[in-house]
Amino acid sequence: MPRYEYRCRTCGDTFELSRPMAESSAPATCPSGHDDTVKLLSTVAVGGTASTPASAPAPAPRAGGGGGGCCGGGCCG
Ligand SMILES: [Zn+2]
Repeated sequence: MPRYEYRCRTCGDTFELSRPMAESSAPATCPSGHDDTVKLLSTVAVGGTASTPASAPAPAPRAGGGGGGCCGGGCCG
């Protein structure tokens, strides 16, 4: 039986429940008795915004004519 992870929005606790897939989205009650819970996605972490590699290519400073930027705001005339 698959396990699903939930988070209680009342006390902030996270807990797991083993339940049939058909009931994966059914309301879950946290161990403390709160029912304001949300189902979390898989525990597999995807991506993240912890840090940006310093070697990441920077966008070209000059993007050609038109299309917003300085010349679109009026500061260039
Ligand atoms: Zn709770």
